[in-house]
Amino acid sequence: MTQAPVIVSGAGPVGLSLACVLAEADLPVIVLEAEPALPTNLRASTFHPPTLDMLERFGATEKLIAQGLIAPTFQYRDRTGEKLGEFDFGALADVVRHPYRLQCEQFKLNFALAEYLADRPTAAIRFGAEVAGVQQAADGVSVTLASGETVAGSYVIGADGARSAVRQALGIPFEGFTWPEAFLVVSTDFPFEHHFDGLCWVNYFADPDEWFFLLRAPDVWRVMFPTGPEESEADIFDPAKIQRRLNRVLPRDEPYEVKHTTLYRVHQRVAERYREGRAFIAGDAAHINNPLGGMGMNGGIHDAFNLGEKLVRVLRDGADPALLDQFEAERRPVALQYVNDITIRNKRNLETRDPSEQAAFRQMLRETMADPAKTRAFLLRASMLASLGVTGY
Ligand SMILES: Cc1cc2nc3c(=O)[nH]c(=O)nc-3n(C[C@H](O)[C@H](O)[C@H](O)COP(=O)(O)OP(=O)(O)OC[C@H]3O[C@@H](n4cnc5c(N)ncnc54)[C@H](O)[C@@H]3O)c2cc1C
Repeated sequence: MTQAPVIVSGAGPVGLSLACVLAEADLPVIVLEAEPALPTNLRASTFHPPTLDMLERFGATEKLIAQGLIAPTFQYRDRTGEKLGEFDFGALADVVRHPYRLQCEQFKLNFALAEYLADRPTAAIRFGAEVAGVQQAADGVSVTLASGETVAGSYVIGADGARSAVRQALGIPFEGFTWPEAFLVVSTDFPFEHHFDGLCWVNYFADPDEWFFLLRAPDVWRVMFPTGPEESEADIFDPAKIQRRLNRVLPRDEPYEVKHTTLYRVHQRVAERYREGRAFIAGDAAHINNPLGGMGMNGGIHDAFNLGEKLVRVLRDGADPALLDQFEAERRPVALQYVNDITIRNKRNLETRDPSEQAAFRQMLRETMADPAKTRAFLLRASMLASLGVTGY
C-alpha cells in the first residue's frame, strides 16, 4: 500500500524546508500553496549561521551565498553615527560552518528549495491550492481546499503564515500583542557605506526620537523606521516625509532615490499549542515577532527541521509517534522566551528615552566587547545557536 503524503499548507521558507527534510528521506509530501506561483515579496533578508548550516544539505546555502552578501559583523550606533559596539560572528567559527549572517532576500531561498523538491520523486508542490479546513481521523487527515476538493494525508502541517488557515481550523488561540507603531521599510541604492566610517552590512541605530536599522540587501540598503501610531498611511507614504526620514539618517542636498517602500504591522504572538492530533503548526503560523534580530524566518526554519526530522523517524524508521510531542515541548519555549525576550529587548534598547536604560545598554555593550567569554555568549544568542542548545564549550 502506498503511504499517504504528509500535507504541508504553505510554500514559504518554513513549509518548503519541512518538505525538503521529508523528501530527502523519500517520504511522500505534498505542499499546497494558495498563490499561483512562489511569492517574490520582500520580507526577511537575514539568514543566521545555524540556518545556513541546516540548509546546506539541500544545496540552498550555496545558492544563497552566490546571490547574497556575507555579513561577518553587526554594529550598534547612536543617531550621531557614533559606534557603540561591533560584534564579529567569526568568534563562533569553531561551532558553526557559516560564522556570519547572510544578507539575501527570503524568496531566493524559496526558489532554491523548490528546485531541490523538483528533483525528488516523492515531493510535489501544488499552486492555487488554498487550504480552508482540516479534518482528522485516528489514522490520517484530510484537508479541504477553498475549491471544495479534499486532499488526504497522514499528517498536516500548517506553515501558512501569520493568518494560518490550519491554526484557525484547529481553533488554536494566537496569544500576544500587536505593537502600536507600524514599521516602514524604505529601500534605496544610495551608498550609505561611503558616508559612515566603517559601516558594515547590518547596523542598528539607537535614538529616543526615531531609532532605525540599516541593513544591506544584495542590491539596496533597507532602512527600517518605526512610525507613530497617530500617522495615517497617506502621511507615512508621503514622498516628502519619506525624504525627511532618510535625511535624518544622513542629511543630503539631493533627494534619495527610493526603490521600494513597505509598511507592516508588527506583533509578538505565540500559539497556545503547536499540535492538535495529527496536525501541527510551524513558522509564522505558530509565532510572530518584531524583526529586530532577524529571528522570525530563521526560527521558523529551525521548527521545520525539528518537526521534519521527528516525522522521518516516525514515518520511515518506525519510532513511537509520541516523539512528535517533543516538537512543541522543544520549540514553543524558544518562541515564547528566547525570541520574544531578545526581540523585545532589542527594540527597547534602541528606542528607550530613559537615560539610565540608555547608559545600561552602552555599559552592557562595552562590557560584552571587553570580555571574550561574554562576547561569545552574546553571539551565541544573537545567532540563535543558543536556542538550538549550542553552548560552544
Ligand atoms: C519586512 C519584513 C522583514 C523581515 N525580516 C526578517 C529577517 O531578516 N529575518 C527573519 O528571520 N525573519 C524576518 N521576517 C519574518 C519572516 O519574513 C517570516 O517569519 C517568514 O516569512 C515566515 O515564513 P513562513 O514560511 O512561516 O510563512 P510565510 O513566509 O508567510 O509563507 C506562508 C505561505 O503560505 C501561503 N498560504 C497562506 N495561507 C494559505 C492557505 N490557506 N493555503 C495554502 N497556502 C497558504 C502563503 O501564500 C505563503 O506562501 C521579516 C518579515 C517582514 C515582513
